[in-house]
Amino acid sequence: MQKIFTFLILILLSAGSFSQEPEKVLASIFDEALTDTTAWRHLKYLCKNTKGRLSGSPASLKAINYTRQALKDAGADTVWLQKVNVPHWVRGYEECRIFSSGLGEYNLSVSTLGLSSGTDSKGIKAEVIEVHDFDELKALGRNTIEGKIVFFNRPADNTLINTFAGYGGAVNQRLSGAAEASRFGALAVIVRSATQSLDDFPHTGTTHYPEDVNKIPAVAVSTAGAELLSSWLKKDPSLNVRLVTTCKTLPDTISFNVIGEIRGDLKPEEYITVGGHLDSWDITEGAHDDAGGCVQAIEMIRIYRLLGIKPKRSVRAVMFMNEEISTTGGKTYADEAAKKGEKHYAALESDRGVMSPRGFGFDASGTRLDNLKSLAKYFVPFNVRDFDAGGGGSDIAPLKSLGILQIGYIPDSQRYFWYHHSANDTFEQVNIRELQMGSAAIASLIWLIDLYDY
Ligand SMILES: [Zn+2]
Repeated sequence: MQKIFTFLILILLSAGSFSQEPEKVLASIFDEALTDTTAWRHLKYLCKNTKGRLSGSPASLKAINYTRQALKDAGADTVWLQKVNVPHWVRGYEECRIFSSGLGEYNLSVSTLGLSSGTDSKGIKAEVIEVHDFDELKALGRNTIEGKIVFFNRPADNTLINTFAGYGGAVNQRLSGAAEASRFGALAVIVRSATQSLDDFPHTGTTHYPEDVNKIPAVAVSTAGAELLSSWLKKDPSLNVRLVTTCKTLPDTISFNVIGEIRGDLKPEEYITVGGHLDSWDITEGAHDDAGGCVQAIEMIRIYRLLGIKPKRSVRAVMFMNEEISTTGGKTYADEAAKKGEKHYAALESDRGVMSPRGFGFDASGTRLDNLKSLAKYFVPFNVRDFDAGGGGSDIAPLKSLGILQIGYIPDSQRYFWYHHSANDTFEQVNIRELQMGSAAIASLIWLIDLYDY
């Protein structure tokens, strides 16, 4: 009797004003996303008014306040800030100038790597040794390296169709080059930007020093600059470079994740998280990385509310803080969820740019993966086709310990590293229609996963 009663209630609920037919629901989600201007306004504000919102910066606080209001306006039931400890590193004056007796002088386009140690205002002037990997560095040894500036010049492999793989094959020079060169007595490092593009934008990012190494300054040089430096070194191996970077690491400070929640209709104690990261590098508007991902999460809330979509579970849009330096936003979010005993069902991250959607990657296997892949049929009209294993994001990774399904939003990646971590990642580089195709795909997928309990 109880069962029949529950069944009747469910029938009544589903026979309300809102149709549960996937084809119709998805069409209405895409229609709304592609005809509304809210996302455009949010993206423009974050890019133009909170540029350089690295954690700890005044711009990051402005972005926190703005997105808190945006989530309220979107119709979230509850919006709150979650305290996060963040590092506070600030760039100073930076200059990297080549001096060659035969070829002249040239100023390279550089950007100091996050967490790098600095120089004094006079800088470091030394000869330069070009290497392509850590084996080459080791083979040259302390006799050659000591007292010099090491120039890591291995390009991203352009033959790789997945540009994230190309980036991944080059980025260890940025992450560990300074530490490795320091072991051989280098004074500083210059690292070729980890990007497939050939241009004059330096692409920054963090560098890491293990406890046991002497911290030496590290800068990224534009790919065009790397080509020039390499060609000059061939003609004049004894040229000098003067590197000045007066960056500083200040004491850690307090920042916030911004969270907006729609309370679930039938299973409010279970949570689905959709997020991007609100911080960006200090030299950029951070449009693709990752204001766009944050805007897509806000759009999911807005669209659900506007269309009267009531998820069974509580759905949260989370703007994570400090993804770029040490992901303390993601860690804090997962720690608090664990402490409160929250039951997290799934989490999706959009942090691979906001180009046209290709699909989703799922950290799942077996029947669950088969179920998730079967949802692809609903996305055919929207050209979103790649549903496959493997996915997540650095902010949602700490939730894995709670046994959740992790999902990565996957847009087309061919242009992403043209912008990534550089001053070229501007509002103007985003096609708002492509961004909104992504918002709609994400909102649709989350609704389906919640509906079918996949
Ligand atoms: Zn990012």
